[in-house]
Parts: sequence; structure tokens; C-alpha cells
Amino acid sequence: MPANSPLDHVGLGRPSLAVSPSVVDELDDLDDDLAPPLRGPVDQDRIRAAVREILAAVGEDPDREGLRDTPDRVARMYAEVFQGLHQDPRSHLAKLFTQKYDEMVLIKDIRVVSFCEHHLLPVVGRAHVAYVPNGMVVGLSKIPRVVDVLAKRPQMQERLTEELADLLMRELDAKGVAVVIEASHSCMTIRGVNKPDSTFVTSAMRGVFKDRPATRSEVMSLIFGARG
Ligand SMILES: [Zn+2]
Repeated sequence: MPANSPLDHVGLGRPSLAVSPSVVDELDDLDDDLAPPLRGPVDQDRIRAAVREILAAVGEDPDREGLRDTPDRVARMYAEVFQGLHQDPRSHLAKLFTQKYDEMVLIKDIRVVSFCEHHLLPVVGRAHVAYVPNGMVVGLSKIPRVVDVLAKRPQMQERLTEELADLLMRELDAKGVAVVIEASHSCMTIRGVNKPDSTFVTSAMRGVFKDRPATRSEVMSLIFGARG
């Protein structure tokens, strides 16, 4: 790998590493001033060894035909679903546009796919994100990207909700941010308390959404109002 490889600065120079092109693009896009020190990339060899170990531990034969490629598949899957650990969500919020619009902007039903940090099982749902600009707006496609970066980490829904609200509040210099996430947790629906229909709802209100009850109820009725 040549010394001037574009990936050297983020430690992704290992040729054996399978990172999807979109990850590489996004990492390349990072503004050096904004990028925090990134931890190393996902170590797929280590995941492969660990998955073999789990299979053996539950009483399986990791070498039987059906399981032979499983450690490798799981390693690639974890590299994908946890790629947000190696991305900076602020890179999507670096370009803001001046706009006199000072009413609420709401993006509803952003698909959220995350993994709970307690069981490493999928959490699937949707996020609703609103903000009141303070002279600057961001491209609408950027907010779902930010959601995705934060979701692709071992997460707790409460923390994801708050991280998202605080990040948008800070980076957009907004007058207010509201984040509501509704999600189903596999660790509750497939095991344990076994409540297949339960949905977990979290919300974080900042700025005007926190201070003004009328603004808060407006966003809540825009998000939930039409549902029976
Ligand atoms: Zn869980």
C-alpha cells in the first residue's frame, strides 16, 4: 500500500479489510478539522475466531458444512452494522445553507436499524426529527445519514435519542431540536419477556421544544396526530 494512500489517516490501509465503498467515501469526505481520533477498524479475524468459539460453546460443530462460512459471514455483518463506530456524524452537517425560514422542519419516519448494546440484537424502528433553524438549514438527506451513523454502533435507544438531539442542536446552532424514536427491540420480542408487539418510544426535546409547551405539542401532533 503506497504511503500516500487516502486511507492511511484513518487506519484503514490494510488491504485485507472489507469495507464497503460507501464507507471509504464517507471517511474520505471527513474534514480533518472535524474528525476526532478514530479507533481502529473492525477486526474481522477476531470476530471470526470468537464466532467459532461461540458455536463450539453452544455444542455445535463449527466445521460442519452449514456452519463453515458462518464466522466469516458474521464478521462481515458486524463490520457493516457497527461501521458507525468509525465514522464522524458531524461530517454530514458540515455544509449548512443560509435560509430565512424560521419555522419548524420535521422529517418523519426515518428508518432506524441499530443493535442493542446489552444483547447485540437488532433494534428496528423509526425516528422523527424536527428542528427550528436559527438562520441556517441543512440538506434534508443529511439528517437520515446522521441517524444512520449513530445507529450503527452498539446502542441504547435512550442514548441514541439524546445524542442525536444534542448533536443537531450544537452543529446546526438550532433554536430547538425534537427527536422521537419508536422501535421494537428483538431482545424483548424474541426472548425474555417475549412481548412481540411492544414498541419502545423515547424522546428528547431541546431549546424551544423544551421551553414552549405549544411548540412541543405542535411537533407531537405532527408526528402522532394522524394515527388512530
Ligand atoms: Zn437488548
